[in-house]
Amino acid sequence: MTETINLAKRIEKQLPAELVNFMLVAGKVAVSQGQNLYLVGGVVRDLLLGKPNFDLDLVVEGDAIDLAHQLIQINQGKITTHPRFKTAKLQWDKWSVDLATARSETYARPGALPSVKPGSLTSDLFRRDFTINAMAICLNPGRYGELIDLYGGRDDLEHKLVRILHEQSFTDDATRIWRGLRYEQRLNFHLERETLELLKRDIPMLDTISGDRIRYELECIFGEERPEKVLRRAEELGVLLRLHPALRGNGWLAEKFKQARQLTSPNLPPIGLYLALLAYRLSDKESEHLISYLRLSKPIAQTLRDSLSLKAKLKSLADPELTPSRIHHLLDGYSSPAITANLLASDSPVARQHIQLFLGKLRYIKPALTGNDLLRLGIAPGPQIKELLERLHEARLDGKVRSKQGEKELVKGWLTQKDIS
Ligand code: ATP
Repeated sequence: MTETINLAKRIEKQLPAELVNFMLVAGKVAVSQGQNLYLVGGVVRDLLLGKPNFDLDLVVEGDAIDLAHQLIQINQGKITTHPRFKTAKLQWDKWSVDLATARSETYARPGALPSVKPGSLTSDLFRRDFTINAMAICLNPGRYGELIDLYGGRDDLEHKLVRILHEQSFTDDATRIWRGLRYEQRLNFHLERETLELLKRDIPMLDTISGDRIRYELECIFGEERPEKVLRRAEELGVLLRLHPALRGNGWLAEKFKQARQLTSPNLPPIGLYLALLAYRLSDKESEHLISYLRLSKPIAQTLRDSLSLKAKLKSLADPELTPSRIHHLLDGYSSPAITANLLASDSPVARQHIQLFLGKLRYIKPALTGNDLLRLGIAPGPQIKELLERLHEARLDGKVRSKQGEKELVKGWLTQKDIS
């Protein structure tokens, strides 16, 4: 018989008191209704690894929505339910807990979304991606803290291995290929030998997965601390080329991703910027292909388009004689991440300097006079208002005028020259 491992002390030590108390109460309530309650998935893995993770995923042998309704009365928070999936989310203060009814899944064909029916914890764990994610901890009062490790997850954690649960795993759901690379690189683990062989065998199965689901996996990868590691591994194994044959996860990309993080907020992964850098080597046509396959959102698609359109202007931007107004003209209207992608990607120090000048200063410069001010100066309404404002903008950018009064004089001068008032 295998030894029983109890993680109650570890839970107490690693998780915030609010969540520990919640689990103790939730276990009691579940059992009082004849249900069994378990903590499952990533949080169990991270408890064993000693890594912080407060995203509680609970599985109920019974009815998650019923239990969630009972618990929200005790905790006073918000409840969201999905009756179709028999899941619920509880939110209170800064905490959030997911509850799911234990279920089993079957796949009608590779890549299809699974057919789901209520099941036991055992079947719920069997549908999971990797042994290290397929452990549970019982929260019933009599068994509180007991580790349930049916597939050797703890052993694999110890040996730093990412291992699927059965031979058909990647065929059933090829998104697990990307997920496997993500865990391997995040945790500095290795794909277990047979898992690696099956992954390579099943790479063509990626074509059975919808672009939406692949995009979701990419977003998860871009949320990692070092997504470039996953992309490098994906290139090495021939996974990246399934996304597009021209993509590379090379040293250039790694360097640019690192710089991208330095330039952006640490709390928000720069998804548009990362994607623009990844797609930087594509032609316009190839990029359009990627945009429609992944069904990218409008702003991200625009970033990819802008990034390539700006790439074509880098030669002009590398001219050391450019005036500020000309620099502004070349860069105005493009999305910020697309401009930053070109700042990072350009080899020309002059072009980079010009882009930096635009991002740091020129884009904020505006004339002091407005259209109304011009009307008040006696200029007739019509297209010349717009023209004059544009000329003022240029003069401001090029430092030819620095005050509102100066702008007025400039306009008056132009008017007497051209006599267009
Ligand atoms: P982390 O990225 O830290 O693992 P998480 O554990 O919350 O976060 P999710 O992507 O939310 O990861 O998935 C929750 C659990 O659901 C996983 O631990 C895994 O057991 C299971 N899971 C998720 N996606 C799949 C999949 N495609 N196939 C099988 N199991 C999956």
